[in-house]
Amino acid sequence: MELYETNQLKIYNSLSKSKEIFKPVVEGNVGMYVCGPTVYSNVHLGNVRTFMSFDLVFRYLKQLGYKVRYVRNITDAGHLENDADEGEDRIAKKARLEKIEPMEVVQRYTVDFHETLQKINNLPPSIEPTATGHIVEQIEIIKDILQKGMAYEINGSVYFDVLKYNETEHYGILSGRNIEDSIHNTRELDGQSEKKNPQDFALWKRAEEKHIMRWPSPWGEGFPGWHLECTAMSTKYLGEIFDIHGGGMDLKFPHHECEIAQSKVKNKVNPVNYWMHANMLILNGQKMAKSTGNYILPNEIFTGENNILSKAFSPSATRFFMMQAHYRSVLDFSNDALEAAEKGYIKLMEALNKLDNIEVGKVSSVNIGDWKQRCYEAMNDDFNSSVLIANLFEGVKYINLLIEKKETISAADFKEFQNTLNTFVFDVLGLKNDLEQNASEKLNGLVEMLIKMRKEARDNRDWALSDKIRDELAVLGIQLKDGKEGTTFSIN
Ligand code: AMP
Ligand code: ZN
Repeated sequence: MELYETNQLKIYNSLSKSKEIFKPVVEGNVGMYVCGPTVYSNVHLGNVRTFMSFDLVFRYLKQLGYKVRYVRNITDAGHLENDADEGEDRIAKKARLEKIEPMEVVQRYTVDFHETLQKINNLPPSIEPTATGHIVEQIEIIKDILQKGMAYEINGSVYFDVLKYNETEHYGILSGRNIEDSIHNTRELDGQSEKKNPQDFALWKRAEEKHIMRWPSPWGEGFPGWHLECTAMSTKYLGEIFDIHGGGMDLKFPHHECEIAQSKVKNKVNPVNYWMHANMLILNGQKMAKSTGNYILPNEIFTGENNILSKAFSPSATRFFMMQAHYRSVLDFSNDALEAAEKGYIKLMEALNKLDNIEVGKVSSVNIGDWKQRCYEAMNDDFNSSVLIANLFEGVKYINLLIEKKETISAADFKEFQNTLNTFVFDVLGLKNDLEQNASEKLNGLVEMLIKMRKEARDNRDWALSDKIRDELAVLGIQLKDGKEGTTFSIN
């Protein structure tokens, strides 16, 4: 039996604003779409927090035995500087400033994105489609929406008619807004907009003469609106109705609201059963954001090269810092908070490294079954990694008490204890044990040092010392092999 059959996973659905029991469209399978980065600059730690939140979701769904198709796109065209469809394309602007091709910008920052997520130990998604790879699909959706009368063409651009849509549907269903408020709040950016109403959003934009990223369409040369790519790619790979759609809180409006509107017109259905929104990472009391310059880059943390840091922090300690907060809570970044997280991380890894020192007995005085249940309950409660970590520290207490022989554990329980710890720490939270890695690195360094000392002994014709080093290493299971290129070693 799969774990999901015995575990009741609850997910907070931003649409219903409540926790709901998770029931996938197809039993045993999950389709999950997460809005990916716009690849015009290095991802900052705030972006990484959101991608890590959904990595946790992906990992836990897999742990429960679901077959997950996780689609996360790359926005490589169509995202303008301003959410109201104004301004330059972010990628084209960077290309212009750096005097390189837009696709060079895309390549550079896609590589950076992948490298960063790999360092932080995020799993790759199942499919990573790009906006420019799905222009044809986007054009087809626009044709369909136009044909249904919910969009209009003007000067080679096509806009979604939000007011008309709102006559029969609720534009604002996800973000809790209503159109009347937005009529008050939206100001014309330059008074020159060709839109019928400022609430309307672009499905297709005419490319001005100097706009490099352009494609032919029935409405002339242009490029797709940002919201459209996610509708095109999510429904292409996951179906018209799929299970989970995720992104940062700031994407709820207008991005996700527009996705719902597009799908409702095109497919006549609400596209997503569970909308999940990850909360923001805060720096200096404000949302971390590229546009305001209030951000820190992951690499600055790993190297310590930023004035707000006292030293470098490993990707694992950084990951632990993120995982200590529930994904729907705001998380404040600071050097102190990172230092505290690092201490916690080290404490957890040190405890895991001591597991082998536990002697098993006939009976258990600790209740491993109950403890394991609490770990699952934490994650079943809307992926509460914060409560999970508190439970893992309960496990650390058990480890210490068992080593001190103040508690006892049976062989079967010990096996379950060890498996559960490994599952949650490494598979679900995605942490790595750097302490273990450091130990093996140190061991290699130590053997290299002894090889060097043995060579010096041989150069001095001190055969007794050279043999002693080789033989004593052999007793420890470390074999030296002398060859033309020098001495190598293997550890049994
Ligand atoms: P972008 O490349 O700007 O589209 O952002 C990629 C993802 O990062 C989106 O899901 C955003 O919601 C998310 N994001 C942006 N800033 C932050 C932040 N300060 N904290 C958490 N997530 C963020
Ligand atoms: Zn999106």
